[in-house]
Amino acid sequence: MHNVDVAIVGGGPIGIELNAALSKAGKSVAHLEAGRVGHTFAWWAPGTKFFSSPERIAVCGVPLSTPDQGKVTGEAYQAYLVDVVKQFSLDVRTFTRVEKIERTDAGFVLRYRRSAEGVGGPSDPGAGFGEGHEVKASHVVLAIGNMHRGRLVGCEGEDLPHVSHYLEDVTRYFGRRVVIVGGKNSAAEAAIRLYRAGAHVMICYRGERFDSDRIKYWVLPELEWLIEKGRIGFMPGTNVVRVAAEDVELDSGERVAADDVLMLTGYLQNRTLFDQLGVELTGEVERPVLDRTTMESSVPGVYIAGTACGGSQNRAKVFIENSHVHVDRICNSIAGQGVPWELDDVLEGLGKAHEEQ
Ligand SMILES: Cc1cc2nc3c(=O)[nH]c(=O)nc-3n(C[C@H](O)[C@H](O)[C@H](O)COP(=O)(O)OP(=O)(O)OC[C@H]3O[C@@H](n4cnc5c(N)ncnc54)[C@H](O)[C@@H]3O)c2cc1C
Repeated sequence: MHNVDVAIVGGGPIGIELNAALSKAGKSVAHLEAGRVGHTFAWWAPGTKFFSSPERIAVCGVPLSTPDQGKVTGEAYQAYLVDVVKQFSLDVRTFTRVEKIERTDAGFVLRYRRSAEGVGGPSDPGAGFGEGHEVKASHVVLAIGNMHRGRLVGCEGEDLPHVSHYLEDVTRYFGRRVVIVGGKNSAAEAAIRLYRAGAHVMICYRGERFDSDRIKYWVLPELEWLIEKGRIGFMPGTNVVRVAAEDVELDSGERVAADDVLMLTGYLQNRTLFDQLGVELTGEVERPVLDRTTMESSVPGVYIAGTACGGSQNRAKVFIENSHVHVDRICNSIAGQGVPWELDDVLEGLGKAHEEQ
């Protein structure tokens, strides 16, 4: 690869939108993605649906619809992203992991290697392989997402092979006793799907009751009904202190039989590239400090786009639907144009846009 105006790291929906916009603006782009196009959706359990409506997650103005006007599945969305890449003839270098970014007097040098999978999810290899290559760029956009590894509970036995932070294809759980640790939306959805797939489900949640602000309004009533009917077990106000091969031990001293343990306790962001570049982070969630008119970080020439802006969100506020606006901001800044709009608050207030859907 040769020198380019902009290097984009990350081939999720926002990276793709940026590539299309920057290419249209006549910028030369190197777009590097550690896995396939839309890697993040490839690790969702098959059949998992978005909670966002299709039109809100459509990119580059390409319509996205479903046969039943419902929410789209991760696999359908991943295929849609591939179609968008094809439609705009975008050059996305897939299975290419950026491992180091250095600042130079002229801009940045990105060092990359081949990668067996994308960054984040259960199959993230953690590093590339083979010979190293580099690309030089005047600007860098990190559209790297933020759901890279599970948030550990910190209990004994969490590293056992039957413990996972990721729901897999639900058919694997038929007839199995599954303990779900967590009580937010992902735990609630997993519990319902696993029950319907023939698993024996027990939810262990540290809260005394579910928080209706943390579970989608169409999911919570069904979960509560299934618990009331005794079809899904629920142990509120409990913390798992130890996982053993055949059960989990709670802080109450009780033991719950478990063939599989799903720790659905949130995700952490891989900060490697931020740290290498010296991007300033703030707050408990360690989100990058940004100029919200341009999305430029504390390092001149380094921009952050998409959910990467949110840091390790424990209460997600940055979604696809409120990240589209990053694209224009970054394009205008790199093209040296002004910012033609009044700003809303991307990092805090836009959670509201989601609630209003
Ligand atoms: C079950 C579930 C349901 C969800 N539902 C919704 C929803 O309804 N609406 C919504 O908006 N969001 C939803 N999300 C979150 C959604 O996944 C993100 O909003 C979306 O993926 C963010 O897009 P992005 O382009 O910012 O980042 P991502 O799609 O995460 O893309 C980042 C990409 O960067 C690549 N990458 C990272 N580091 C490197 C590197 N060093 N080198 C090369 N490539 C790299 C990764 O491989 C990845 O492909 C959901 C998530 C889950 C798990």
